[in-house]
Amino acid sequence: MTLFSPNEILVLDGATGTELDRLGVDLSMPLWSARAMDEAPDKLKHVHRLYLDAGAGAIITNTFRTHERSLAKAGFGAESRRLTRSAVSIAREAIQESPSSALLLGSVAPLEDCYSPELSPDFDTSHEEHGRLMSDLVAGGVDCILIETMCTAHESLAAAKAAAEVSPGRWGISFCLDSDAGPGVLQDGGKLADLLPELMEASFIGINCVSATSMGSQIRHLRSCLPETMPIMAYGNVGYADEEGGWVSTDAIEPQRYARYAMEWIESGANIVGGCCGTTPATIAAIREALDDQVADVPKSWLQ
Ligand SMILES: [Zn+2]
Repeated sequence: MTLFSPNEILVLDGATGTELDRLGVDLSMPLWSARAMDEAPDKLKHVHRLYLDAGAGAIITNTFRTHERSLAKAGFGAESRRLTRSAVSIAREAIQESPSSALLLGSVAPLEDCYSPELSPDFDTSHEEHGRLMSDLVAGGVDCILIETMCTAHESLAAAKAAAEVSPGRWGISFCLDSDAGPGVLQDGGKLADLLPELMEASFIGINCVSATSMGSQIRHLRSCLPETMPIMAYGNVGYADEEGGWVSTDAIEPQRYARYAMEWIESGANIVGGCCGTTPATIAAIREALDDQVADVPKSWLQ
């Protein structure tokens, strides 16, 4: 079964962590958004539901920080499986209660801070730890694994290897690039283009958590490196990371303006678009609306 088609546009959800923050859920580090499963499951389901109601055709589990390694920093390492399964169940319930259908993507984030590539563990450790989280996501019932916000070459390849073993034919990978270094440069200095030949079994390849303003040039570069049959995912951020590793939301990019950027990403070759940190249900609703209005005008030379 093909989950993602290069001939269709799929709308993803927006940020979950920053949206929980707006609803007053305690997201202090190191647990961050993993707190929501136990402390605010109804609010988490509500956030998923807001995105579904806004028109998202795929939502992402709140498992960005449910690796055993992340939870161990708060003394909850043994809770990884339970919290991961709980996150999948809550998201699945939101989909079941929604009148429209949607895919459920299981989020797998870097093992250490996304913006600190030097902390990334070695290949074998990464492979093993990502594989454990992915097994729990698949057992919980996600439709597809989403390896996201990847910032180093070796951990990306380790996670991709684990995904191909645990969830063959149902995984994709998305990178958080160093926008200041030009198109296609990972935060460890490696070139994304060098990794792509090893990622051709993915269901999609994407870029996320770069600023909405710099995403377009990244997508044009990625499209030039990939066969037309490989779907591209794009979800940018709005705001910035603070010193403590939290996220400062700003209104610097309003939903309608973000949606215009998303239409540019589609023109540049993306066909799965949504929002990362700082985006809201209003952002996703604006993308949906722009898509319904404008998709007929989008040049689709890369589509058939
Ligand atoms: Zn983000």
